[in-house]
Amino acid sequence: MKLKYLSTALATALCVAAAGTGLAQNSAPPAQKVTATTPAPKLVVMIAVDQFSADLFAEYRGRFTGGLARLASGIVFPSGYQAHGATETCPGHSTILTGNHPAHTGIVANNYFDLSVAREDKRVYCAEDETVAGTTSKSGQYAPSVNHLLVPTLGDLMKARDPKAQVVSVSGKDRSAIMMGGRQADELMWLAPTGLTSYRGTTLSPAAQQASSAIAAAINQPRAALTLPADCTTHDIAIPLDKGATVGTGRMARDAGDFRRFMASPEADGAVLATAAALRQVRKMGEGSGTDLLIVGLAATDYVGHSTGTEGSEMCIQMAGLDRELGDFFARLDATGIDYVVALTADHGGHDLPERNRQNAWPDAQRVDKALNPGAIGKEVAEKLGLPQPLLYGDDGDYHFSKALTAAQRKAALAEILPRLRAHPQIEAVVTRDQLEAHPISKRAPDTWSLLDKLRASYNPQRSGDFIIALKPRVTPIPESGIGYVATHGSVWDYDRRVPILFWRKGLAGFEQPNAVMTVDIMPTLASVIGVPVDANKIDGRCLDLLSGPESSCR
Ligand SMILES: [Zn+2]
Repeated sequence: MKLKYLSTALATALCVAAAGTGLAQNSAPPAQKVTATTPAPKLVVMIAVDQFSADLFAEYRGRFTGGLARLASGIVFPSGYQAHGATETCPGHSTILTGNHPAHTGIVANNYFDLSVAREDKRVYCAEDETVAGTTSKSGQYAPSVNHLLVPTLGDLMKARDPKAQVVSVSGKDRSAIMMGGRQADELMWLAPTGLTSYRGTTLSPAAQQASSAIAAAINQPRAALTLPADCTTHDIAIPLDKGATVGTGRMARDAGDFRRFMASPEADGAVLATAAALRQVRKMGEGSGTDLLIVGLAATDYVGHSTGTEGSEMCIQMAGLDRELGDFFARLDATGIDYVVALTADHGGHDLPERNRQNAWPDAQRVDKALNPGAIGKEVAEKLGLPQPLLYGDDGDYHFSKALTAAQRKAALAEILPRLRAHPQIEAVVTRDQLEAHPISKRAPDTWSLLDKLRASYNPQRSGDFIIALKPRVTPIPESGIGYVATHGSVWDYDRRVPILFWRKGLAGFEQPNAVMTVDIMPTLASVIGVPVDANKIDGRCLDLLSGPESSCR
């Protein structure tokens, strides 16, 4: 069996769905070189590939022949940075189309604690409305919402300038669709076991419903094992985990209806891309007088990274599939003759599982010590000092003290807890709210940032905790190698911060800029290309000049 995924069948189904609704005329694409006087492109395509680290891009760059090869021939920033410390999905996506660090987007983590919320569950998911009755932050039980995003997205600015501008956001994950799509998107949806879904109470458009049915049908088919591409054989080594399990030699076979395994395969990315292409076609995006925005969130690389790590057969299959699916997607766009610009980046990088790192020349790679439990330390301290319990709320390294404490009690608790945590051999630093409050957001290039600079860029006084724990490099914060979740990201270290930033447009001369730039630079860069004014005082990023030579695309 060849590397042939859902998207071909799905694309065919969706093409049929779109037939008769007025396909774009095939007109000659702009052949001439793009210069400072070339009119704005008609369509911006923003693609986020979750967990597509700069390391993965470097490893596979020479093998790409499809969509990623095209982008690698464009304008390449191999040292892009999700500059902040909390390198999780939601903060990362919030930077891409807002031009702002999580400190300003307000999206400081995937989940954070807000002890002032009325409901019993004080944990708040980044993309939920916790005021909806009967909800909790648990998966499937929250009400998806954009409420927590504090700044406008590129799509919001485009809509404010021209209400006819179309903005469509399709992703594997809700938080990706929402954080990149913003408040004003015409359509916004993500993958679900039932196909596609959106905010509670909203109905999918007829085209999205057809896509959803095709995706649901695909999920409900079993999938046979995929054939390993020839150049993946060196990755095909079994890595032993706890309880006799292994990773590293997977072929992505799955049972009918296994949504998690569907998500951890190029099928999921193919489904999102086919949906995006179909919606563009039906809505005639890129065919009007202005510029439209199509946002695509591809989550499969992240699912593969978490479930099987970054260096096995599974990721090799995923990279080949992603490259191919993107190639098919661009071919469909090319066929329309629309002048489009593509930007591609990632929400964060990633790090391989310690068990494989230890086999591959990194013997010190570790899993976090099970005994390192801030909750348990909080309990000990509360008992010692006679303070109310629970003393601490938090996870992912970000901790809040109970609101029941007086200022003096809080100070005493901190004085007791900090030395205990800082003494742990896996902890690099524990940084307090006071330290972060006193520290300005760095204006320097992100490859020179200190640990405090990184944590400050994802610190927001209304949402962040009283102290933040940073683990040492190559300490994976998953204590056991359980099946399904073996590796992760989220650290302050560069393997989680560095991501490629790629731009491509027909006729735009390619160049490589190896110096460090940031994902917060993407929004002002694209805004300038399409002539949307941005107040430089309201963003953290800067416009990157995409025209090689003396001309500039920044205005
Ligand atoms: Zn992830």
